[in-house]
Order: sequence, then C-alpha cells, then structure tokens
Amino acid sequence: MILPPFRYLRPHSVSHATDLLREVPGAAVLAGGQTLINALKLDLVSPTALVDVHALEELRGVERTADGVRIGAATTYAELAKDPVVREVVPSVAEMAAGLVDRQVRNRGTIGGNVSLNDPTNNFPPLLSALGASFEVITADGADTLTAEQFFRGALATAVTGGGLLTAVHVPALPTGTRLVHRHMQLARDSWALARVVVRAAVDGASLTEPRVYLGTVPGSPVRLTAVEAAIAGRPLAKETITAALAAFDTEPFETISDTHGSAQYRRAMAKVQLRRALVDVIEKEQA
Ligand SMILES: Cc1cc2nc3c(=O)[nH]c(=O)nc-3n(C[C@H](O)[C@H](O)[C@H](O)COP(=O)(O)OP(=O)(O)OC[C@H]3O[C@@H](n4cnc5c(N)ncnc54)[C@H](O)[C@@H]3O)c2cc1C
Repeated sequence: MILPPFRYLRPHSVSHATDLLREVPGAAVLAGGQTLINALKLDLVSPTALVDVHALEELRGVERTADGVRIGAATTYAELAKDPVVREVVPSVAEMAAGLVDRQVRNRGTIGGNVSLNDPTNNFPPLLSALGASFEVITADGADTLTAEQFFRGALATAVTGGGLLTAVHVPALPTGTRLVHRHMQLARDSWALARVVVRAAVDGASLTEPRVYLGTVPGSPVRLTAVEAAIAGRPLAKETITAALAAFDTEPFETISDTHGSAQYRRAMAKVQLRRALVDVIEKEQA
C-alpha cells in the first residue's frame, strides 16, 4: 500500500521535538512505527508531519531510581528485555517485553509508543497500571508526571494524544513479598489478546493484602477492578477467596468491547477465566 504524503521531521532534542509538535499543525510523534506506519498505510490516520523521536538519546535507556526504574519513552522492547536493571528491579516488564509478538516488532517498537497509543489490546497499559507506574509528559500545559489513571483516558486516548510527548515511564519495584501475575487469552497463538488480567497482591501471614487488579482488552482502556480487590483484601489464601472474587467480578460496571473477534458476553466470560487463573497463580505461588 502506498503511504499518503507527509513531512518527515527529525528533531535533535526533546525541546526541538516539542517545538515541532507545537508549531506544525497536524504533526504526530513517530516512535517505532509498528502501529503508526500500518495505520497510515490503511488510511486510518492522516498526520501532516511525523516527528521521529526514535533515535533521540534523551528518550532512550534505563536508569535505576530510589524506588525503581526510569525508562526513556523510546526504549525498545528488545532493549527492555535484556536490560540488567529492568530484569532485576521490575522483572515483569522485561518478561512482557521479551514475549511481545516477534523480533521485528521487539527491535523497533517502544514502551512509549505502546502506552501512548493505548490500543485496547496492547500489553503494557494494564501491567504498568498494576505496577503503579507514572508517566512523564510534555503537553500544551507544560511538563508533568501523571498516574496511570490520569494518563490513560480511553481506547486509543491518553494525556499525550493530539500533540503531547511522553518522555519517560517510572516503574516502582514491587515491595518484598508482593506477587504479580499477568494472564491473557489470545484469539490465536500469533494473534492479539481478547482478555487480559493483571493481579498484584502482598501476603500478610496467610492473607492477601493490598490487592490491585486490572483488566485490559475487554474494556477500551485499563480498568481497576475495585469490587474484586475489596473481595480479596484481608482474605485467606484459599479457594473461597477466589469464589468471592469471581462473584464480585460479576458486579463490576466496566464497559465491554464487542466486535467480530468476540462479543461483549464472550469477552467478559473469558476475562473471568483469566481472573480465576491469575488468582490461583497468586495463591499457589505464595504457598510454594
Ligand atoms: C504484527 C504486529 C502485532 C502486534 N501485536 C501486539 C501485541 O500483541 N501486543 C502489543 O502490546 N502490541 C502489539 N503490536 C503493536 C506494537 O507493540 C507497537 O510497537 C506499539 O503499539 C506502538 O509502539 P511504536 O513504538 O511502534 O509506536 P508508533 O507506531 O510509532 O506510534 C504509535 C502511536 O503512539 C504515538 N507515540 C509514540 N511514541 C510517543 C511518545 N513518546 N509520546 C507521544 N506519543 C507517542 C504515535 O504518535 C502513534 O499515535 C503489534 C504490532 C504489529 C506490527
């Protein structure tokens, strides 16, 4: 397919990139291009210019911080998967990056592109939400650091949609004794997810505490399942806790995508299966 015409702009710094995004009407950030170029080919988007940030050193790499890691937005999945600091401090991020799609996407795709797009099927938005990540952005309102709830604004919508720039993601390390399990169901082995659940919980004696449960892919944007969390907080590492969580899941009010890949009813049922499996993993891992 032939790409529509657009200007290709290569900034030499983050401030140059933000100047271009402000000054050129209709300009969009280009990172790994693994979604954006396909969207251009399919005529789904029509930016007047692409501001290519992929090679900006200021946006690349990982730094250890007092409570975790700071990851530059243009850091690729392949870099995350092999980075020793990411593997040690936030291993779930390295594992997620290592398992993404195929070598080509891992070599070009970036964590910043993944979360800035907030495609409902993307892997990182629910994981980073459950990890309590925060997002450094530069928008028309200036520079800011946002929580996941402030950053993700709906399907394909974030705080940087329409001319903002995500510069980095901060991911705190999990406190000792806290478990995190990610479960998802794919349409096929090499296809995108239909339901994605991330469960994080600490163990206090024989009880689960401080749970955070996020659902992705079924709603358009990550959703925190607060009724499920309330049902498991302070409850024993036992089957009845899972039963209570699944009953609470049925009361969660999130909106559900329905399309040719799966009806709302099917997606909701599959999400419940993933939740049950994730809770089993959390409980069994703690008992091991
Ligand atoms: C065959 C195939 C299968 C895939 N399967 C999966 C999958 O299963 N799970 C998954 O998570 N992903 C999947 N992807 C998508 C992939 O992860 C993309 O890399 C990701 O969606 C976008 O990252 P990118 O760096 O390529 O961004 P780009 O495609 O360059 O940009 C994506 C969007 O984000 C914006 N953007 C990018 N960086 C920034 C920034 N720093 N600040 C502000 N806005 C920014 C762009 O303007 C654009 O709107 C797949 C891609 C392909 C080609």
